[in-house]
Amino acid sequence: MSDEAFSQAQVTDGKNYQLGIMDMEMRRAPKIILIVFVLVLVNAPKVGAQEQGPIYIVQPGDSLFSISIKFGTTVELLAAANNISDPSVIAPGLKLVIPGFEGVSGTLDLRTIEYGETLQSLSQRYGITIDAIARLNRVLNPDRLFIGQSAILSIPEGEVPQERLMIADSRDTQIEFAAKTNLNPWTLHDFEMPLERLWILPGESIAISVASDVYTTGLPFPIQSVVVDPERGVQGRTVKVTVNLESEMEVSGSIVEKTLNFQSLQPFELIALQGIHALMEPGMYDLHLTFSTNNGATVFSFIQPIRIASGDYYFDPVLFVPPETIDPQYTEPENELIASIIRNYTEQKYWEGIFQFPSNITSAFPSVFGSRRNYNDTGYTSYHSGLDFYGGTGTPIYAPARGKVVFAGSLEVRGNVTFIDHGWGVFTGYLHQSELFVSEGDWVEVGDEIGLVGYTGRVTGPHLHWEVWVGGVPVNPLEWTSTAFP
Ligand SMILES: [Zn+2]
Repeated sequence: MSDEAFSQAQVTDGKNYQLGIMDMEMRRAPKIILIVFVLVLVNAPKVGAQEQGPIYIVQPGDSLFSISIKFGTTVELLAAANNISDPSVIAPGLKLVIPGFEGVSGTLDLRTIEYGETLQSLSQRYGITIDAIARLNRVLNPDRLFIGQSAILSIPEGEVPQERLMIADSRDTQIEFAAKTNLNPWTLHDFEMPLERLWILPGESIAISVASDVYTTGLPFPIQSVVVDPERGVQGRTVKVTVNLESEMEVSGSIVEKTLNFQSLQPFELIALQGIHALMEPGMYDLHLTFSTNNGATVFSFIQPIRIASGDYYFDPVLFVPPETIDPQYTEPENELIASIIRNYTEQKYWEGIFQFPSNITSAFPSVFGSRRNYNDTGYTSYHSGLDFYGGTGTPIYAPARGKVVFAGSLEVRGNVTFIDHGWGVFTGYLHQSELFVSEGDWVEVGDEIGLVGYTGRVTGPHLHWEVWVGGVPVNPLEWTSTAFP
């Protein structure tokens, strides 16, 4: 594949750029190196052709070919720039000049992209032009540096200064800005010049770097940190977004197109929980965060892609059910009703610690969350949205955590069903019960008996189907019985 073809491939997928390179290297390296070896012998470069440019230190496993691919150059140019006549002498630790990056100096190194970092902020911190960073990393979509991505940067001689990004409203005077950020106005000398240290951020604020003991990358004062846990979301699992601040700000945003609801358990720490849909295609999805002052003015916002990985769920055998069971005409109105219940967001958190099981029978489960379902051989377009428990009619069902009953009634598909609101957008549901012991508006404590197992609704036998919903999305209940959120 030529460079051009590779670039085009990157435009269409744009996601696994690094992986793409690795794959190609592994597959093609042995053959190509042989050809390259011959070419280099034929075109041995003239002595004294040493070029200026950034330095790359050869790593174990590198070849001239893999290095040429990494930096978008050719083996011939690399060999010429470094007076290499015999490519087999490439050994770890060797310093190579990388041609094609005039004006860039220093040592090239890999660094992991962090929250809030953009080509702009990297350019400012490392003193390299945006164009050079984009070319070094062959980035075609500069707005899409993703968390955890390895970026190649040229590290200047000596230490990268400990600097903190500060944001000034374009109307601030230097004194106002100093007061806002608790900085001595004299330390803001940089604020007026040099001009290249000033740049405009989304929201039309001005960000500058000032010397600081508190070092954060990409995120300006007073944003101390942003953490998405896990860094790589998983189908059918819960994602926690934590923002730490140094002074009060409003934070809003979204993840995988779901609005984040931030709550605070301690000063200057904001947390939002969101479920990832079990059928969401694995890939890159956006995290949007917007930080505003209490009067609503946006001071900083960023969009960064996060990865969603497969949950590796089972594929159940094809299930044959009465056709009306899966007819949207019957299932949709009930789904709408459930959606309207779990859409309500309670700002208080009622639960503490991990969820208890709603049944005493937990040694084995007839069906687990997420397994792919194919009803009546119409394709694997469905999945199991809960955790099923063994136990015949009359087996007690217990509340797994403190909460408020928001629905208790009889439905056609789900049978006798209870939904409990645990706060912060977390709900649990109990389907197919024979008896309901609670009613809407009741408070339940962990361990309270709320009903009995049955086979009401469209089921083939008695069992409890238990669901946990987070931010309007069903997630794996076993995650909540093993992890104390938040
Ligand atoms: Zn079930």
